[in-house]
Order: sequence, then structure tokens, then C-alpha cells
Amino acid sequence: MNGNCILLNGDYTFLGLVDWKKAMGLMFAEKVRILKFSDRVIQGVGRTFRAPAVAVLVKVVRSVYRGRVPFSRRNVLARDRFACAYCGSRIKPITMDHVIPRSRGGKTDFDNCVACCRACNHKKGALLPREAGMALRHRPWQPTIAEFIRIRLRHSGVYGLLVELGLA
Ligand SMILES: [Zn+2]
Repeated sequence: MNGNCILLNGDYTFLGLVDWKKAMGLMFAEKVRILKFSDRVIQGVGRTFRAPAVAVLVKVVRSVYRGRVPFSRRNVLARDRFACAYCGSRIKPITMDHVIPRSRGGKTDFDNCVACCRACNHKKGALLPREAGMALRHRPWQPTIAEFIRIRLRHSGVYGLLVELGLA
């Protein structure tokens, strides 16, 4: 997790990552308490100290992270972790499929678009999933920014630390 510190809101919900210098600055300003220090040793002037790994804000802030992720094809693929929503394949290229086809009034938004491998996209064409004999592995949804960050963190050591702390 490379110098990043997990920043939690005052209610212990996950806010995001800040670099350790920012976390130290917040600590000296008494805006955060450090819950956990990392193994990374920082060489300071005349002494060494450990970089903060998890910091919690002293107060609860209303956060932009509760906002909605803006729609884009890339963000749909990231939400679905670049795996086909029908068969689970990660074989590239992963395309984007409209669950309800555009030709039948399906919208281009997070609630109607999923990641889809080329084979499934070809098979489904302009049909509804059930017409094509296909089933979604998950329903599409509009992610919040906090959820989105969490999804992207699953691949990194940060997520394991959140689990370890009972926060994910
Ligand atoms: Zn597929």
C-alpha cells in the first residue's frame, strides 16, 4: 500500500486514501487520530518513525464519496471488475452491453449497462437476456464513489487491511 494511509470518517466508514505525509499533517492539526501504523519506517530529522496506515477523522464529515460515480464505459467495466456479467470471463476485449437493448429503449446508464465479453455480446445481440437464454450474474447498479473505491481496492493490500479491521 505504498505510502498510502486509509482515511476513515468519524463514524469509521471508509473515505479514501491519503498519502502518509497528508495523514501526519492531519494528525498534527488534531484532525485525525492514527489507529494503526504501518511497518514502513520513515527517516525524519534526527529520528525515525512509522508511517500511519489507518487514520480516523475526529469529526464526521459529509463526504463527496457518497456521491455517484459519473457514468462512463470505463467505469462500468471497473464496477464489474472487467469480468463479463453473463459468463464471468475476463478474456479481452471486454465490451459494454446494454441489458435492455438501446433499440428497445434501454438507457445508457449504470442501471442498464454491464461488462460483457465479446462472445456473450455477440450471442445476446439486440435481445433481452432471457430471450437469448442468458442470465446476469449480478444486477447492474449505480455505484457511489465510496463503493467504487472499495471495488478498486479489492485487488490491493488495502482491502485486506480494511477486512482485518472489520471495516469492509
Ligand atoms: Zn461472457
